[in-house]
Formats: sequence, C-alpha cells, structure tokens
Amino acid sequence: MNNSSNAAKGINMEDWGTFSGQPVFLYTLTNSHGDEVKITNYGGTVTSWITKDKEGNKSNIVLGFDSLSGYLTPPPYFGATIGRYGNRIAGAQFTLDGHSYRLAANNGPNHLHGGLKGFDKVVWTADSVDPTNPRLTLQYLSKDGEEGYPGNLSTTVTFTLSDANELTIDYTATTDKATPVNLTNHSYFNLTGDASRTILDHSLQIDADRYTPVDSTLIPTGELAPVKGTPFDFTAPHKIGERIASVPGGYDHNFVLNKGGRDGARVALLSDPLSGRSLAVYTTEPGLQFYSGNFLDGTLTNRDGKKIQQHAALCLETQHFPDSPNQPSFPSTILKPGETYHTTTKYKVSLEK
Ligand code: BGC
Repeated sequence: MNNSSNAAKGINMEDWGTFSGQPVFLYTLTNSHGDEVKITNYGGTVTSWITKDKEGNKSNIVLGFDSLSGYLTPPPYFGATIGRYGNRIAGAQFTLDGHSYRLAANNGPNHLHGGLKGFDKVVWTADSVDPTNPRLTLQYLSKDGEEGYPGNLSTTVTFTLSDANELTIDYTATTDKATPVNLTNHSYFNLTGDASRTILDHSLQIDADRYTPVDSTLIPTGELAPVKGTPFDFTAPHKIGERIASVPGGYDHNFVLNKGGRDGARVALLSDPLSGRSLAVYTTEPGLQFYSGNFLDGTLTNRDGKKIQQHAALCLETQHFPDSPNQPSFPSTILKPGETYHTTTKYKVSLEK
C-alpha cells in the first residue's frame, strides 16, 4: 500500500490544514535509499513510515491517516507524541512537595497519556528545516496548570531519519516548577505493511527480566515481578500470539529493561517473517510498554480503507514506569527547575538477508 516515488534525500513540507486557527503541516523525511517518514506538527505525530520489504516492495509499517481529519476524531494516539505523562496516573491525582494535584480521569478512574488534551492534540511549532537534512524539530510550551500539571514546561522533540533507516526521537524539556514528565511516541507498528493482518505472527524479544504487574485498571501494583516462567518472558524471541491467550485482555504491560537508562542500548527486537522486516528499539529509558493493540475493535478504518481489527498493530512505547508519581519505589519522573529532561529512543528497520 501507499507506494511513493523516490524523492531526494532531505525534508519536504506541505500544508495540511488548520487546527484552532493554527497552521498544520505535513513533513516528509526521506533518506538516501528512499525510505520515508511523515510527521505532522499536529500532535507531533508520525503518520507514515514507508520502507521496503525483502522483495523490494514498499509499504507502510505504521497505522495512520493521509489527512488531518483522521486525527481530529481522535484515534487511540496513532503515532502521536505523548505528554506530559505517558501511560497512567492512578486515581488521576498525585502529591508533590506537599501539594495535591488533580488531573482529568480520562481512563476509568485514572489519568491516561496526559489528559483530555494531551501533547497529542495540540499544534507544535516547527523549527526551520534544512531541506537537505531529514530532520524535524518541534517545540511545545505546556502552560502552568495545563491539564492540572504544575509549571510551564518547555518541550522539544527532534525526529531524524538516517540512511540506515533509523528513526531517532530525541526529547528535551525544562520547567519552572517541579512536575512529572514522561514523554513517549505512540506509533502502532505492523511490519507486514498490511494492517488487515494481525501482529500475532510477529516475533518479539525484550531485554527485560522483570515487568510491572497491574491491577484491573492497569495500574502497577508496585511489584517488579520476574518474567521467568510467565507469558511475559520475551528474553528469548517468542511469537506474540503464542501465549497471548493466557494474558487476560492481551499484552499491555511495562517491562523493566535490564539495560534501561544506560547508553541507548538495544532493548527490543520485533520481527516479521512474511515481509522479512525487523524493528529494533534502542532507548535511554528504563521501561518499555508493550501494548498488543487490544482495544482496537474494527471501528476505525486505516488509510487503505481496511478496518483496523484487534491486534492489527502493536506499540513499543519507551518510558518511565506507569504511575511513577504515586510509586516512590519506581525511578523518579519529577523534573525540577534548573534540570533538563533528556531522553532518546531509536527505532531501526532492517531486512533479513
Ligand atoms: C496503553 C493502553 C491504551 C493505549 C491506547 C497504551 O499506551 O497502555 O492501555 O489503551 O495506549 O490508548
């Protein structure tokens, strides 16, 4: 689906409409091999990643839409930049320095992905681009009190597409009051390039000996449980469909990365025998949310006109652990004035020889 012509290496910008009176653009990043990633400044959203399969055919490996309207009836965060806090905060509240903060309960009793109007639903400002360099920098100022969070948070996200078909996403933020911050990208991958297939035959390896078990509302219990002997053991590659039936609701869990927080190490490898594509994930973050597209239910239609069924795609969201503001034993997500938040995640697509 969606073959594209081989444009020259660099970045191209086109008008994509307006949102709340603000101009929205679609940027196409192209590397020297013609791999192509499209990003819009609406929600800092990756809308498309077109790359070759083992036969040399190009197709799109992420769910998304070809016009802004698809994103305005909000899909479940397809490709979006998530903030101020990725994943859930229990009871939609937290206490920081003796103050209690109330957030929107937009997921049952809990707060999910930054609230009613998170970073995925705002227009970011793009820096000027060098047309020969496939790199895009977006900025967003989240005001003090926005969605209930303290402090003016100045956020920058830079996307770079390399000639080795690596999409690197670099996040920085500074604040004028202490605040929780946990930024991630919510791309839904299906490496076959055909979203009418499920990802159950993809195989996945995650370098995590432990995960964070959750309660019935998907809030971590606080335990870091061993994966050994459970369907969460992806320390060696397993097909996603192999044990999913024994995970109630499907996979939607945070993995405690063995090398988390160190040197942008490789933490996960997803592979699809059909297309021959693999996707390696590298990050400086301590956690990875593996979400197997459980809540996709056929009500949305992909860009190719096909219904997006359960398990049509999966997310590998690099992050700090869910509910960290209420879990003192988890690595802290509090950013203080004078500090700089900085994390990097890289997704690299390769072909099996
Ligand atoms: C969460 C899921 C949620 C999905 C889309 C994931 O990051 O873990 O529970 O349904 O995002 O909203």
